Amino acid sequence: AVRVRFAPSPTGALHVGGLRTALYNYLYAKKMGGTFILRIEDTDQNRFVDTAEDYIKESLEWIGITPDESPWNDKGSVGPYRQSERKAMYKEYAQQLVEAGHAYYAFDTSEELDAMRERLKAARVDNPQYNAITRMQMKNSLTLSAEELKSKMDAGEPYVIRLKVPRKDEVRLNDLVRGWVMVHSSQIDDKILMKSDGMPTYHLANVVDDHLMGITHVIRGEEWLPSAPLHVLLYQFFGWEDTMPQFAHLPLLLKPDGNGKLSKRDADKHGFPIFPLQWKDPASGEDVAGFREDGYLPDALTNFLAFLGWNPGTEQEIFSKEELVDAFSIERIGKSGTKFDINKAKWFNQQYLKSKDNAELAHYLLKDLETHGKSASKETAENVVNALKERVTFPHEFYTEGIFFFEKPTVYDEQVISKKWTSDAVKVLKLYAVALEKESFIDAEKAKVLLTDVLEQEGIGMGKVMQALRVSITGKGAGPDLMEIISILGKDEITERIRLALD
Ligand code: GLU
Repeated sequence: AVRVRFAPSPTGALHVGGLRTALYNYLYAKKMGGTFILRIEDTDQNRFVDTAEDYIKESLEWIGITPDESPWNDKGSVGPYRQSERKAMYKEYAQQLVEAGHAYYAFDTSEELDAMRERLKAARVDNPQYNAITRMQMKNSLTLSAEELKSKMDAGEPYVIRLKVPRKDEVRLNDLVRGWVMVHSSQIDDKILMKSDGMPTYHLANVVDDHLMGITHVIRGEEWLPSAPLHVLLYQFFGWEDTMPQFAHLPLLLKPDGNGKLSKRDADKHGFPIFPLQWKDPASGEDVAGFREDGYLPDALTNFLAFLGWNPGTEQEIFSKEELVDAFSIERIGKSGTKFDINKAKWFNQQYLKSKDNAELAHYLLKDLETHGKSASKETAENVVNALKERVTFPHEFYTEGIFFFEKPTVYDEQVISKKWTSDAVKVLKLYAVALEKESFIDAEKAKVLLTDVLEQEGIGMGKVMQALRVSITGKGAGPDLMEIISILGKDEITERIRLALD
């Protein structure tokens, strides 16, 4: 059975890239009737941020991606699901590699490592590495005598455990997205597996856990592709090749203009969110915008994220979560980077927002009205959201775009006043107010008939007065259907507004 995992490091706010990785893992698990595991990779103490795990949890809850097994429930049997709680295990596995001759102890100080790099640079090696050649000049269990090694150990000298990468070997893996990836082992460093403080590095902990947790597919961002050959070597050295997971590296998310990787700076510069929720950066104390607070709907954002690197191969764009599960496949994940286009996210939001029924949308408006010390009947709120629904992208716009429904305009659009406030317009407005007043009930159709009557009688074209009429009622030069506005506001309010504007 399929078992996939999302394995974030709690080093800061989860970013859209991470959220997309979580989503793809989730979709694949659901599609295959498998299990979606969440594992917290918190072994890097220097980068640990204590609010980050809660942030990850709340973000996933908000968007509706629930892990089957995680540190937050007791459903799985391969826990603990936080690496910091698995420390002892990694040590044993590192030891196992040392005993098998695939890893070794290294005692080099950082000064010695720097000196080695300097030497290599002076010899014009552009990528100085601790590897099959250089390790022979360093202080490690491959070069020290048995007595030297023992005395260092007994003296408690700090050491790390490094992977003994073979000098000449072709490492291959068949990535489900990228196809065959081949790397020569001379390109791979003797990576540190266990640090001197006894903590595993990402590589060791990640591979050991994927194995122990029975992971069948590793779906993660492309930035991890360079680590994959190293992971393959680890699987080989542990003798776990038969159950090695399949890899699928997701395409990079690119800046909106396509030049380079998407970053928080792009977001700041262009004013769009890249974090699911608002986040207070503990380092700077800064508040960073989030999708939730900006008014993105979880389903719309899910739909948007699904298309960042995957497509269904058809024209259909709107997919519910169930439909995504149904349509999803790793084969349809693209290789090339995907541009992050916030306008597309807005488009999805708009589609989802307008597909909701008026009663549901009215809640947003009623809440905002209340916050501003205003109120409206449910019926009015529903009529207002209905009138605005095609024009708004975010729920808060029902209030901001519809404010004129709840208060008389105090300023009038200058452009319209200077260009369209003609004597013809004034004449028609006056007559229209009189005509409206005579009616007992006005709906959109009636409002229009009355206006047409006045226009015909005066021999004035509709185009000459519509903007002036709109501005007298709403203060603005554009907005939803004017006849609908008139029917919502009712004849008393409308005649009053027209007269106020004429004054
Ligand atoms: N902890 C890694 C991260 O923060 C996980 C990478 C992986 O999925 O292997 O993204």
